[in-house]
Order: sequence, then C-alpha cells, then structure tokens
Amino acid sequence: MSTKYIFVTGGVTSSLGKGIICASLGRLLVARGLKVTVQKLDPYINVDPGTMNPYEHGEVYVTDDGAETDLDLGHYERFLDIKTSQKNNVTTGRVYNDVISKERQGAYLGKTVQVIPHITDEIQSHVLKLGQGDYDVVIVEIGGTVGDIESLPYIEAVRQLRYNVGRKNTLSIHLTLVPYLAAAGELKTKPTQHSVKTLSESGLQPDILVCRSEHPLDHSIRSKVARFCNVDLEDVISSLDARTIYEVPLLMKEEGLDQRVIEKLGLETCDMDLTSWTNFVDKVCNPSTEVKIALVGKYVEHHDSYKSIVEAFIHAGAVNDCKVEVVWVQSDEIHGKDVANILEGVAGVLVAPGFGGRGIEGKLDAVKFARENNIPFFGICLGMQCAVIEFARNVCGWSDANSAEFDGSTEYPIIDIMHDQKDIENMGGTMRLGKYACKLVEGSKAYDAYNTNIVEERHRHRYEVNNNLRYKLTENGMKFVGMNPERDLVEIVELENHPWFVGVQFHPELRSTVNHPQPLFVAFVKAALQYANQNGLDKALS
Ligand code: GLN
Repeated sequence: MSTKYIFVTGGVTSSLGKGIICASLGRLLVARGLKVTVQKLDPYINVDPGTMNPYEHGEVYVTDDGAETDLDLGHYERFLDIKTSQKNNVTTGRVYNDVISKERQGAYLGKTVQVIPHITDEIQSHVLKLGQGDYDVVIVEIGGTVGDIESLPYIEAVRQLRYNVGRKNTLSIHLTLVPYLAAAGELKTKPTQHSVKTLSESGLQPDILVCRSEHPLDHSIRSKVARFCNVDLEDVISSLDARTIYEVPLLMKEEGLDQRVIEKLGLETCDMDLTSWTNFVDKVCNPSTEVKIALVGKYVEHHDSYKSIVEAFIHAGAVNDCKVEVVWVQSDEIHGKDVANILEGVAGVLVAPGFGGRGIEGKLDAVKFARENNIPFFGICLGMQCAVIEFARNVCGWSDANSAEFDGSTEYPIIDIMHDQKDIENMGGTMRLGKYACKLVEGSKAYDAYNTNIVEERHRHRYEVNNNLRYKLTENGMKFVGMNPERDLVEIVELENHPWFVGVQFHPELRSTVNHPQPLFVAFVKAALQYANQNGLDKALS
C-alpha cells in the first residue's frame, strides 16, 4: 500500500484546534492498526521556533533528535504515542533557507528561482521525505488560516502534490467555524462557505469539512454546508467543545471522521479498540480527589508556555485518580514576600524551566520553602539549577553562589557552562539539545519511579552543575542520583530526609504520553497526594 497523505487546513479564524483534530484523527487511525505520523507546516519566516519568545509562541517542543519545534508536535506525540523528529516540522524560513543555499551552490543551473516552482517543490519534497519513512498515512497540518498571504505557497504545493501522487492517495480536510449568533438564535454557515470558496479558488476542494461550533449542527445546517461547499452530507463533521482535548478522538469517532477517511482513501484496517483511551478520559473527567500543585515560573500568564508540563500533570493525575489543580505562581512577584501565604494549600511545588535571570530570586524562595517544609518538590531544568543554587547558598554557606548565566562575577558559579563551548559564538549552537542517556542510582526516588538503571530524556539547556564545585553539594548531603555516563554531567539531584525532592536537568514532560505517563510526574503527584492527605489538603470530589 503506498503512503496516503491527508492535508488539514483551517479557515475563518485561528485557534480552532487544528493540531488537536490532526492528533485525534491520528489516534483513531493508529487504533485501527495503521502506521501514522503527523507533520506541521508553519508559515512563519523563523527557521525554527527555538529563538521565539514563549509569550508569543508558547512552549518550544524538543524532539529526540534535538529539533526545536512547534508545540503541536507535543500533541501528536501525546495522542499517537509516536516519536517525531526534525522532519515533522517545516517552516517557511527553513524552506527558503534550503532553496537559497541550493541557489548559492548553483543547483538551479542559472534559472530564475521563484516561489513557483522552486519554493513549492521544496515544500513538496519535505512532505514526501517524511512519507518515505514507511508510513501508511501522513497527516499534514498546514499552519495559519486559509486566505493568509503566507499560506498561499503551501496551498499551491498541496494542490500540486495531490496531482503528483494521485487523487486517491490524498485527502483534503478543512477545519472551519460555524458561529452561533445569539441575536438571531442561529448557526451561521456563511463564513464556512467563504472559506471553502477561498480554498477552492486556489485549486483545493476539501473532501471533508470539520465544523467547530458551540451548538450541534442539525440536519438542515449540515445539508446547507454540504450543498454550498460541494461535499457529501456525511462529509460534514460536527466538532463541539469537549470536556478535555483527550475526548476529541472519541467525539470524532462518533461523528465518523475516521470511517469517512478510511473509505475515501481505501485504507485496509483492523478493528479498533479504544477501551484504554476511554478509561483514561473517564479518569480525567471524573477524578476522586483534587490536589493543588504550584507551578512557579516567569511565563505563567501564558499557560501555553508550559504546555507539556500541564499535559504531563493530566496524565500523571489519571494514574493517581486525582485532578492536579495547577496554582500558577509568578516567580518575579514572590521574592521577599510571604511565601508561606502565597503557597498556602499547595501539596507540591514545581519550579519551571526558563532562560534569563528575571524571577530567579523568587524561584529560590519557592525552593527554600519546599525544602524546609518537606513539601514535595520537582525542579525541571532551570528549576533544578535553582534547587542547586539554593542549596549551595543556604546549606553549604556559599552565600553568593549563582549560575554563570545570571552572574558572571560570582565566586561560586555552581551552575556553569561545562562543555568545550565557551568559545563558540553562535548561541544556538551551544545548547545541549535532544535525547541523552542518564544512569540512575539504585534506591533513589528517581530509580523507584523509573524502575530501571538507564533512561533517556530530552534536553534543552546551555548550563550544567559545575563539576569543579559539585563536591561541596555532596559534602552537605545533596545526592547526584542520575548522571550522564559519557560526559560525567549531573542529570538528577535529590535530597535525603525529605519526602520527595527531585531536580532534573532534562525535560521529562516532553516524553509523557497518554499511554506512557512520565514516571517522575507520576511519582511526584503521588507524593503530593500523600502530603495532601497527611495535611488535610486533599479535596474529595464526587
Ligand atoms: N537557562 C538554563 C540553561 O540554559 C536552563 C534552561 C531550561 O530551563 N530549559 O541551562
């Protein structure tokens, strides 16, 4: 069977949840025994989102191979339980970069290099390259909204691709909005009609329409959409707001989205078993208890900056039959304040990853409070570095200990650049990015959680625990229970005589999926539940 390509475009407005629809369709096809991956084509000029501000773009998602990508790839991994790579995210910047490099090398033999055919060919080759990876289906999410200038080369590339690989091997799904006008008491189909018209003018007729709406589409609305948008009645799929994003695959199955896709593409599939997914959604929607965990970070106004952490809490909560209520704490607003008061009622403290010095002192206050009051603590990347700095200052007595990232003149740079990198000028090039091994010490909390000796987790950072000064931490009782074997770098720190105090240099949240909740998150939530239980902080639900 040759690889089939499903192109998903969006119309009317942004934020309709194209990524979730792609991930949900992917989940349903995987459940039917198909080998599926999802690719995101992003119409911005950045070569990758690595240098983009989290406020603007949300979290930068990192893959095993160290690609800095769009956060939608996180949804694909969490839903499909697959690993994505650099190939799964292509931006306009990357496409132009490649085309311009080729032009400089003379690859175009003196031709005038143009959007059509050179840019559109390059886009097609990125899509086809991923398909060659032995997939039954590649779902391609086109970022942006139909009608945007930036999206045009992508739509044209898809039009050509459909022609090149054969219509029976491709499908066009358009996600659109059917708004409800309260004054008229009606759902309105006109925006959808216009969006489909714009798409059709570019030569791309959708095969299936997924209509987001606040109210169910009745027969008359469905048939109106079908008639004016030139699709069959069964190809008008209604997508209502869900209780959780994880319910969307189940709702799409009820609407028959996967069935329509399979029939249209002539896919051979096996029976689908969604029992474990349904059980997971039940647990997420009907937890027995609620536990509050503080997330201390500097981008907390924009929750998408911590997307994978929030999702990992949902997975770990389901395992522990509880809802993790995240208490968002702005790190640069708590320093010098009454931390006990701010963190009152929380049963766990997570100090988040981040870059730059803003909010560091507040993060150190949060670490200190958790350490001294035996509250379960989880430090991730910068959060782990804060745990180390706090310990060096307040336990080891190095009062000006710091990270070289924030204070170049500290006497005790307990966090510093450890690789042979100090001379490299290109900031992007100095990062430890992607998957690295970590060897665990038996008997540690981390070992108990993972239940194995060696794990691989993803990284995105420049600084490390300083190997020349780390003896002081050990002398004072901090344990290095996870080490990178090749480079002798500290990966996990723990404290004895504390119920659960774990800091990790890597990003465990990036590998948590519905089917494989991340073990440290599961253990952290369990410890928080226990603490809540002992201190009367857990709230029974139902
Ligand atoms: N800023 C720190 C570093 O570069 C931590 C990065 C992070 O939290 N991802 O090492």
